[in-house]
Amino acid sequence: MLLEELRKQVVFYGNQMIKSQLTMNTGGNVSARDRKSGLIAIKPTSKHYELLKPEDITVIDMDGNIIEGEYKPSSEWRMHAAIYKKYPRVCGIVHCHSIYATAMAVADEEIPLINHELCMYCTQPVKVMPFAMPGTDQLGTSALEGMECGNNVALLKNHGTVAMGATLWHAFDAACAVEQAANAWFIAKQMGNVNILPEEGRKKLRMYDPLMGEDTGEIVEIKAV
Ligand code: 13P
Ligand code: ZN
Repeated sequence: MLLEELRKQVVFYGNQMIKSQLTMNTGGNVSARDRKSGLIAIKPTSKHYELLKPEDITVIDMDGNIIEGEYKPSSEWRMHAAIYKKYPRVCGIVHCHSIYATAMAVADEEIPLINHELCMYCTQPVKVMPFAMPGTDQLGTSALEGMECGNNVALLKNHGTVAMGATLWHAFDAACAVEQAANAWFIAKQMGNVNILPEEGRKKLRMYDPLMGEDTGEIVEIKAV
């Protein structure tokens, strides 16, 4: 089986999305890229995460051609491929419909840098990008524009979150950070006081992201448990 370890990770983090309430039913999608071959292991479209086995995960190339797997890839493969093409060091992507982050994307409110988790993956507040139809090239363009400011995440208007990382673990961690920040922002706002982290702390935390700093060509690997 091609990309066995990455397919296991796609199954694992898809299930983690459900368990962590980052998405429901068959919504959202995750993928992992093999930096050596350039091939992508991606969740098949409209399948329940809980039923997926590693061999059910679709392996595609950057143009969406199926290299191995029985099922059609996620309808968002274009967005995933667009991100991988622009960021050669990115090897994991999570797209989810978590409630508070989606609420921010509905309200068109950017998420300020209010928790240390988000500061590890963002240089600027998380932007809400103009609405684009799911499954289109335009959604990929929106996602890229949202991350151009030096962020690993963006909010897709009236839709949800997209997060990229050096590994699928990092992309998942970033998607969790977005949801946690959106949730905390909502509560802090009711309390009447939203404070962002001091600049010095933000700068230091941002350097925890393996995508920051020089590209040594080193492949960051995390095993599926
Ligand atoms: P897929 O089931 O095709 O991955 O689509 C889910 C989704 O979130 C679309 O934006
Ligand atoms: Zn979606």
